[in-house]
This record gives sequence, structure tokens and C-alpha cells, in this order.
Amino acid sequence: MFSARALRLGAVFRTRISALHTSVRRSHRLDVAAPLLRTQSYINGRWSSAAAVFPVLDPATGQELARVSDCGPGEAKRAVDAAYEAFQSWKQHTAKERSLLLRKWFNLMIQHKDDLAKIITFESGKPMSESLGEISYSSSFLEWFSEEARRVYGDIVPSPLKDRKMLLLKQPVGVASIITPWNFPSAMITRKVGAALAAGCTVVIKPAEDTPLSALALAELAEQAGLPAGVVNVVPCSRQNTPSVGHVLCTDPLVSKISFTGSTATGKLLLKMAADTVKRASMELGGHAPFIVFDSADLDRAVRGAMGSKFRNSGQTCVCSNRILVQSGVYEEFLQRVGVAMDQELKLGHGIEPTTTQGPLINDRAAKKVALQIADAVSLGARLLRGGSQLAGSFVEPTLLADVTTDMLCTREETFGPVMPVLRFDTEEEAVAIANATNVGLAGYFFSRDVSQIWRVAEALEVGMVGVNEGLLSAPEGLFGGVKQSGLGREGSKYGIDEYLHVKYVCFGGLQP
Ligand code: ADP
Repeated sequence: MFSARALRLGAVFRTRISALHTSVRRSHRLDVAAPLLRTQSYINGRWSSAAAVFPVLDPATGQELARVSDCGPGEAKRAVDAAYEAFQSWKQHTAKERSLLLRKWFNLMIQHKDDLAKIITFESGKPMSESLGEISYSSSFLEWFSEEARRVYGDIVPSPLKDRKMLLLKQPVGVASIITPWNFPSAMITRKVGAALAAGCTVVIKPAEDTPLSALALAELAEQAGLPAGVVNVVPCSRQNTPSVGHVLCTDPLVSKISFTGSTATGKLLLKMAADTVKRASMELGGHAPFIVFDSADLDRAVRGAMGSKFRNSGQTCVCSNRILVQSGVYEEFLQRVGVAMDQELKLGHGIEPTTTQGPLINDRAAKKVALQIADAVSLGARLLRGGSQLAGSFVEPTLLADVTTDMLCTREETFGPVMPVLRFDTEEEAVAIANATNVGLAGYFFSRDVSQIWRVAEALEVGMVGVNEGLLSAPEGLFGGVKQSGLGREGSKYGIDEYLHVKYVCFGGLQP
């Protein structure tokens, strides 16, 4: 049941939000330079229509933005064949040649950053400031891997025999299938494709059905940059065609590698399909990030960190903090300060409006899931301090829940929405135990000024990435990846390119000592 105080607070907040919500007008239009607004598939350097199309919708208004070619298994196979043929010559390019082409592609992204950001905002709902941030992040992978392309060194191994030389060569694995989600429609592509192309692989990209326009705009710029035909291919398709297209991309013998970012359930399905032909696989799957605030924390910094880590992209990132654990000594004060920050900083609306910080969720299904988690938490005794409702369309009020416990849905599964569930704890051991009591482990965050505690907790958290006194940690120089069922492999950093290389041992015998 809602407490009287929670109801009162909720009502005040709701009035404010519905006033803001009326500003989501249906008149917003996606106006970007024509060549960037591609709607056909891009296979072997050609733009071509499929037999059918599927609509791409603006999640803020439900309006149709474009009709995009709905590729099927035939187009997917053509793309794989083209990528395989292109691989034979792409792998022969020098590292410097590949590097220069990636750099040109990066430069074009920067040149067109405003239009690319608008496309992200319209098809995913993300506020413009965040879309511009995504383009900066996304392009940085092309820049980073244009540099890393030239640093793929092998080894000369000291031989135990005088008549032999032993070498370890690094070679590209071949054609890579790239399957990406809607929450970072641009960056999830470049983080993979930058590394793949730098290594000498060619790619077939299947973007998420909600956000194919960003992928096609990237292909347009790849073409303008001069990437040879067949090196980058994009096969957009509807949800309906996804299984048959996915089947080709994960089972065709000419594909050597799959790289996927998305839900854990889909990742497991793709891994099973890839097993028959023993493909290499990289998987960036779901998270359930703990965000721990210890008594010794700089509370201002912790509140800033929580706001950024929770409400970025309306809570729709796999590294969003999902369970906020706060130690007893600072518990009430943290709640009070976060509540004030939410009132002051969060503004719902269409992402193209400059004042918006919170766009819609990607679709109604996503919003309903979040609303269910809120209702479940409240029914089990959580205090609703802010928000709590699903609004028109797929908007959900930013929500603050206190006194959350580990039996509630929001602490048992990923939320992917603007809900901050806060749990109270007393000891460090208790916090670490709660944090690790999950079968996934992507990101984790904690705030402390106790140096010994920082080392203990950083080592104890069962995650692939840790933010210490920091709520946002993604960067091309740093790595991205998880442990447990959050995935396989690493993206970004100097390790990201290894996912697209194998190491060949060459034993050179019969030499005269
Ligand atoms: P969500 O449910 O949030 O859309 P998914 O993990 O299902 O998350 O989607 C991530 C990506 O995986 C999208 O590009 C989606 O189209 C794709 N996908 C989903 N199911 C399959 C499948 N059977 N084969 C290939 N790709 C798939």
C-alpha cells in the first residue's frame, strides 16, 4: 500500500510531469540531410530494396519515421557471401591502409555528428545531449581502432632447438556477424566493427528492428569514406524476420565469428546456434549492477554518480545501476538528496527538446515491465518517494523506491527503466554478499573514502567493470565486458581487437645453425 506521504509526493510530482508531458508534440520531424537517411539494405557496396518493408517508429510519439527494407534469409546469405569475398582482399590490405580508412570514417562521423545524433534521438527516444554523447563515444571506437590496427604484433619465441625458428602470427578470423541492440544504436556497432575492420575482418551487421536508421547512416558514411564493397554490410529486418536472418548469420559456414550485444536470453540462443559450426563468439549480455554507498562516501559525489548511472538513457543501459545499496549511517540523507536532485534535474519530454533529460522507454512492452516492477515493490512494502507511474505512450516517471528488499522483482531482475530501488545495509560483508547474489556480473559501482575498503570491495565484486567513486565508466581506452552470465569476451581497450584475431604458430624447421 502507498503511505500518505508517498501519495502526496507522488501527486505533486505527477502534476509537474504531466505538464511537461504535454510538450511531447506530434509535430516533431526528423529532418536530416537526405543521404544519411537510408532505408534500403547495404550489401556488397549496393543499396537495395527487399520485397517488403517494416516501419520505424518514434517511441515518443508513435509516429512513423521511415519504412525500411525488411531483409530475409536470402539477403542475409548474399551479405555473408559478399563479406566472405571481400575478406579475401581486405585481409591483404596493410594495417596502415585499414587504419586510414577507419580514420576517414571517424572524421565523417564527426562532420555529421548533429544529424547522426538526431537520428538516434528520433528512433530510440534518447535526449539530444545524450545522443551527441553517444556519437562522440561511438566515433571514438573508429578512432581508437584506427590506431590499434597498427599495433597488432605477433611474437618470435626463443626456440629450444637450434635448427628451428618459432613464430606466433596474428591473423583475422574472417567474416563476423554483428548483432546489436537499440539502446546504443550507433556505439554498439562501432565498438564491434571498429575492432573487426582493424583486425582485417569483414562484417554483416543486423541492427535492432527499432533502430535500423543509425546503422544505415553509418554504412552511408563507410561508403563515403571509401571502404571497399563487401567489407561492411547491413541487413535490417523486422522482429518477424529476425529469427531467420539470425539463423543465417549464426550458422552459415562462411561466418567465423558472431558478436552480440543484447539480452542474456537471446545471447544464449545465438550461442547455441553458433555451436554447430564452432564459431568464435563475443557476448555482451544483461547486467544487474550494484551501486553501493558506504558511510565513508563523499555523499555529494555518490548522489551525482547515482543520478548519472541510473537515469542516463532513462535507465536503459546494461551498466545502469540496478540495485542501490546504502549503509545505515547515510541512508536517509542519501534518499533525501537523491529526491531533491530528481526534482531539480529530471525532465520528461521528446528527446529533441533541449530541456529534456528523460525520453520515453523504447516501447510499451518495456514500460509495462518497469511499471510491474514498481507495483510489485510497493505491494511488498517499498516506500514510493517519487514517481511510480507509466504515463501516456511508453513514458515512465523517474521513480525512487526506499526500503527495498531482496525478495522484490526489481532486485531479482534487470529493470531497464528509470527506477531507483534503494536497499539499506549495515556491514560491508552484507553489501558485498547482496551485490554478488546474482548470476550476472557486468558493472558494479561503490562510493567510499576508506582506501583499504576500496581495494577489498573492488576485488570482491563479481563483475567485469568497477566504478570506484564514479558512476560512468565507459571509454574506448577502458574495456567493456562481464563475468558470469553477462557474457564472453571484451570490447574496447587494447584487448578488443583480440576478439577478431587468432594466433597462428609457425614452426620454421631445417635451418642450418
Ligand atoms: P530486446 O528484447 O530488448 O529487443 P534482444 O536481445 O532480443 O533484446 O535484442 C537484441 C538484438 O538481438 C536485436 O538486434 C534483435 O533483433 C536481435 N535478436 C533477437 N532475437 C534474435 C534471433 N533469434 N536471432 C538473431 N537476432 C536476434
